[in-house]
Order: sequence, then C-alpha cells, then structure tokens
Amino acid sequence: MNHAAAAAGEWYRPASLADALAIRASARGTVVAIAGCTDLMVGWNAGGRRLPSVLDLSALPELGMIEVGPDAVTIGATACCARIAAHPAIAGRLSMLACSARQTGSIAIQNRATLGGNIMNASPAADNPPVLLAYGAQVTLASLRGSRTLDYATFHTGYKRTLAEPDELLVSVTVPYPAPGASSHYRKVGTRRAQAISKVALAALIETTDEAEPASRQVRAARFGFASAGPVPLAAPGLSAAIRGRAFPEIDRALVERALASDLSPIDDIRSTAAYRRQVSVNLVMAALAEASHAPGRVLMP
Ligand SMILES: Cc1cc2nc3c(=O)[nH]c(=O)nc-3n(C[C@H](O)[C@H](O)[C@H](O)COP(=O)(O)OP(=O)(O)OC[C@H]3O[C@@H](n4cnc5c(N)ncnc54)[C@H](O)[C@@H]3O)c2cc1C
Repeated sequence: MNHAAAAAGEWYRPASLADALAIRASARGTVVAIAGCTDLMVGWNAGGRRLPSVLDLSALPELGMIEVGPDAVTIGATACCARIAAHPAIAGRLSMLACSARQTGSIAIQNRATLGGNIMNASPAADNPPVLLAYGAQVTLASLRGSRTLDYATFHTGYKRTLAEPDELLVSVTVPYPAPGASSHYRKVGTRRAQAISKVALAALIETTDEAEPASRQVRAARFGFASAGPVPLAAPGLSAAIRGRAFPEIDRALVERALASDLSPIDDIRSTAAYRRQVSVNLVMAALAEASHAPGRVLMP
C-alpha cells in the first residue's frame, strides 16, 4: 500500500515493526506516530482541527518490552510510566527512573504515557529526560534504512527538535546501571506535589572516592540532568567538569553558581521566573552534593 497521500483520519495499527517502518517511510511525514496519545490528544483538542492520519504503535511487540541485561535495562519506547515505575529491576537499580515515572502526571496518565512519547514530545519540562541524562542513557532509532543508537545527551538539538528523522521511530532506551556506591538524587519542584509541570527538576548521579572521613572524600564523577532550565533537557557538562576530582569541602556555592551560569538558560514563563529557576537549581545541586558527601550510596528521592 502507498501511504504517501494518506487521507486525513486514517488509522494504521501494524502488528510488526517492519510494517510500521514501511508506513513511516512511504507516508513521508504525513502520518503521525501515536503511543499513549496523552500529549497528542491535548494538542488536537485545543486546535479543533481535523485529525491527521495516525500510525498506532500499541500493537508492536518490539516496542513494548523491558529487557533486563547484566549492565543495563533496555526499555521499549511504548512501555508506559506505570510499568516502568513498578518494574523490579528499575525500582531496584535505576530508582531515579522509577521515581520520575511515578511523578509523570496522575496515575491515570501513567497508565498511558509512554517513555518514548515523553522523549519524542521533546518538552524541556518533561520528567523522565533529566534522569536519562544523569544515568547516561542511549536511544535506539529505526527506519527502513536500518537502526542507530545515539547517546541521549546528544538527542535534543533545540526546542522541540531532535536528531530523529521523519522516517524513523524511537524503538528503545537503554539505561546503564550506576557504579556501585553512586548516590542518586531526584527532585521535581512544582506548584504541587502531583499533577504539576516542573518549575525545575534535577536528577544527579554522583560517584565519590572511598575515604571514611566525609571531608576527605572527592567527586570521582558526576552527571546531571535538568528539566525546565533551558530549551531542551540539559546535562550541565560544565558543572560535571568543574567538580570532578575535587574534595567536597572545595565545592562551594559560588563554584556551582558559576558552572550553572553557562550550563543553564532558563526563561521567565507562566510557571516561574528565570531567576527563581537558577536559584533553585543551585539549591538542588548543593543538596545533592551534601547527601553524596555524607552518605555515599544514598538514594534521595521524594
Ligand atoms: C493531564 C496531563 C498531565 C501530564 N503530566 C505530565 C508530567 O507530570 N510530566 C511529564 O513529563 N509529562 C506529563 N504529561 C505529558 C505526557 O503525558 C507525557 O509526555 C507522556 O510521556 C507522553 O507519552 P505518550 O505515549 O502519551 O505520547 P503521545 O502523545 O502518543 O506522543 C507524543 C509525541 O511523541 C511521538 N512519538 C511517540 N512515540 C514515538 C515513537 N516510538 N517514535 C517516534 N515518535 C513517537 C508522537 O508522534 C508525538 O509527537 C501530562 C499530560 C497530561 C495530559
């Protein structure tokens, strides 16, 4: 079938990834991929426009799996937040991801909202991307031309823009386990504790050296992810570089402020101000560092 001129309102629900990619390729961007539809339906309701033709990904077994490997968990793009939060390997070894999935909207939303949709919607305020940045995740895309795996840190190229081509689908996300003893810290700051888009959110993964005295411990490596702190989910590489190899007492607020001044580019909008976002971002990093220095290996989450 040639889908190049798909009539508005067509609903394609292929049962294999190969068929889905064939539709994606021949439709040349005119057929919208849908997963849980929690982002798309909001836009369609608001717009009052005629529904586009859609490629429903919900019957593709290749996209629904969660595979536990020796070094990482690979999560299919259509796995929903409720499944991710409840998965024993994710709750046990990637607890920041279980936490961010549990903070994605309400329970009803979590039952539909997929990890792939959260990434591909490419909102800088989305809850799961900061965690994927902190863990150093990779994303796998597929098209009829083949598949490719990219560091998630390179994936968002600008506001609502990604490296995905129009004929590609996001297939899976691979999240490596953190080094033993690493401290995890996830915090979403919003108007309420549930059903609120973040004013700012931080995921931090901090590895420390093993000295018994907190004052002698150093940051061996640290990775961060921020939401609502710029046009895309941000990794703050300047901060990671500024604190790597330093003893905790040397890392003061001024150093963190300086690093984040260039890593983050928050804006004033309906939810908050740029100044508030900058200040809270520094507070959250300082809290994560304090936890990591005093209780290495702790998992700190709401
Ligand atoms: C009431 C409400 C509350 C919400 N609260 C939150 C919240 O607290 N935190 C948060 O982060 N989000 C929240 N959201 C947004 C939304 O629920 C999430 O972004 C969700 O993860 C989107 O997933 P989905 O499967 O519903 O995506 P869909 O709406 O189906 O798709 C979203 C986008 O991704 C594309 N897409 C989906 N899957 C693929 C794929 N495999 N390959 C290529 N493209 C794909 C679609 O074409 C579309 O552009 C909320 C939404 C609602 C309605």
